[in-house]
Amino acid sequence: MKGFWKTALGLLVARPLIAIAIAAAVVGLLLLRSHRQKTPVTHRAQHVELTDQQQMQLGSQQYAKTLREDRARIVSSGPDYAQVQRVARRIEAVAARDKPRFVWKVTLLRKKEANAYCLPGGKIVVYTGILPLVGNNAGLATVLGHEVAHATAEHAAERIEREHLTRVAASIIAGGVAVTPAQYVHVVALLGVGGEAASLRFSRSQESEADHIGLVYMARAGYDPRLAVGFWGRMLRASKGKQPPEFASDHPSDEHRIARIKGWLPEAERAYRPAPSS
Ligand SMILES: [Zn+2]
Repeated sequence: MKGFWKTALGLLVARPLIAIAIAAAVVGLLLLRSHRQKTPVTHRAQHVELTDQQQMQLGSQQYAKTLREDRARIVSSGPDYAQVQRVARRIEAVAARDKPRFVWKVTLLRKKEANAYCLPGGKIVVYTGILPLVGNNAGLATVLGHEVAHATAEHAAERIEREHLTRVAASIIAGGVAVTPAQYVHVVALLGVGGEAASLRFSRSQESEADHIGLVYMARAGYDPRLAVGFWGRMLRASKGKQPPEFASDHPSDEHRIARIKGWLPEAERAYRPAPSS
């Protein structure tokens, strides 16, 4: 009997450790074997540990948090809302061919910054401040194509992996085990959210790849890709001397960016099928 109590007591004492062990096992299970795959359009071989499902969970958590915090700013009617929904739907339909499991959704927030982003898994946020700058539907399609490309090419997951934060991301998904606030902030910054942590966001090569994929996406969605060149020119002039928004951030030179976009135009034009109305 003495041995029994000793064992039971031992189990009780060990309970926090058991809880940690179970949590660690859950996190371990969430981390499926990393797999090799290719990015859409550019066909770059990449290596991503977080699954589509995990990326969706991570993105959805962040999306829910954003919508909670900015509930009063959500625009849900009017011409701006209608335009964003209409253009986003066409870009999403194209992106869904590359990522059929992602659940695509766009929310327009009343904010003065010219910004837009797409979270891993397909949740898009657009600020009203970007609308005067995009000018037309093709301009908006250029921005959305670029943002959505970051999600289909799994750029956030790549960065999370490169910074050895996959386990932290997985524990956020599992319910916040063994995550310090600093680690949490780091992962959120890598998701590409907001404007506070610009230095932590996508790499230059990922930005360039998003330009390339985005250009082809807008063409596939029925928007003339040649209009992207004028758009980027306007954008880069408008953002001179200011904190650059996501889609204009971290580029070595504006001129190089435009030159590269022109280089991808023939490929995009081959993908272009004009839509009855744009
Ligand atoms: Zn970008």
